[in-house]
Amino acid sequence: MLICQTPENRTKKDEIVMRDSAQAAQAVSVKMTSDDGKVTEFSGWLSRGGYLFEDERGARYHGCTHCKCERCGNVYLKNSYCERCSDKRQRKAWLEKPIVEWDGETFLYSVACQEYFSERCEIVEYLAESDNRIEEFAAHDNVVVVDLMLVLCKPVEYHTVDAYDIYDGDIPEDGDVDDEILQAFDELNAKIAAHKRPICWVPGEQRVIEI
Ligand SMILES: [Zn+2]
Repeated sequence: MLICQTPENRTKKDEIVMRDSAQAAQAVSVKMTSDDGKVTEFSGWLSRGGYLFEDERGARYHGCTHCKCERCGNVYLKNSYCERCSDKRQRKAWLEKPIVEWDGETFLYSVACQEYFSERCEIVEYLAESDNRIEEFAAHDNVVVVDLMLVLCKPVEYHTVDAYDIYDGDIPEDGDVDDEILQAFDELNAKIAAHKRPICWVPGEQRVIEI
């Protein structure tokens, strides 16, 4: 319920209002009169934006602009998350994955940069644009790359199709899919099975530390 919108409680540009600050919300008691003249008193919390809440937590969240991470104390924008803790969790999860040698062909995914790479030169190029450690790559054949947090990708293959699954619900009881159609499905499935290129690649469960 919006109670009031005053110049004081509008968000000023670049203003930081912490969730636990007095500015974010305040306890209030409001007298409300219904259409039939009955007066009731509501005790709750008024957010900085002028909305009434029954609970303090909701009001504070509505009234703040920033939150403090309970784990590390980092301040982050509300409606987002603590990147510092998220990065730590991501790195820990990556370090727990088994190491695998890269064949130089399978797609790689960089957890840190959220990028896919299919060739070594793409990684070198990417680092050249974003990093100044390019000489390191030029000087060595195999370079340990841990900052990128690379994982080996796994292919997503085309899957074969079953005519009875596709037309399930349309085929009458004791009915059958037409032989001509079944034969066409068989031909299609043979092509799908013989097709070697995957539809796409998705991050797998093994990490690569050297390229
Ligand atoms: Zn944190």
